[in-house]
Amino acid sequence: MLEKDIQEILLTDEQIQEKAKELGAVLSQEYADKFPLAIGILKGAMPFMSDLMKHVDAYVEMDYMDVSSYGNATVSSGEVKIVKDLNTSIEGRDIIIVEDIIDSGKTLSYLIDLFKYRKAKSIKIVTLLDKPSGRKVPLEADYVGFLVPDAFVVGYGLDYAERYRNLPYVGVLKKEVYSF
Ligand code: 5GP
Ligand code: MG
Ligand code: MG
Repeated sequence: MLEKDIQEILLTDEQIQEKAKELGAVLSQEYADKFPLAIGILKGAMPFMSDLMKHVDAYVEMDYMDVSSYGNATVSSGEVKIVKDLNTSIEGRDIIIVEDIIDSGKTLSYLIDLFKYRKAKSIKIVTLLDKPSGRKVPLEADYVGFLVPDAFVVGYGLDYAERYRNLPYVGVLKKEVYSF
């Protein structure tokens, strides 16, 4: 039923699972002798966070933060609002930010400033998707799952107007779904 709104599937469930395994193995090595705090950015990063963490073989604490910058539009407002803050103090902690997609870079550059201000010991970014063509502020993730073209994508956590997060793949939304 949902697939009628999708123009093209970019990444299948299998490809994403494979990548979660790969990145999980890298994080297992990097944090083997640490106790990092993984921060999943709600709601979009939820599926990726859960798949990724299954493959991290190290002590890791998990928390979530909900920030909004988009509302129901498909372009960034540039404004970042904290909808739900962390439950955990991050002073002196090794932070792994887990994101669904980096577009303008504004959300993450805001969070990095915030976490530095709160005295995190180290901050690394893992993102499932990166859309470099959308960048408005300089920002690079430490670990990127996949690069995506300049299109509005949904699925595997990513929404349009709160829909499509439950798709098991990442696809390009048909234009007629959001422009009429
Ligand atoms: P940024 O602050 O980097 O512009 O945007 C970050 C947030 O915007 C992402 O976490 C995501 O929620 C949303 N976003 C950016 N590009 C897309 C996209 O192509 N599709 C969807 N569904 N959300 C996007
Ligand atoms: Mg996000
Ligand atoms: Mg959204």
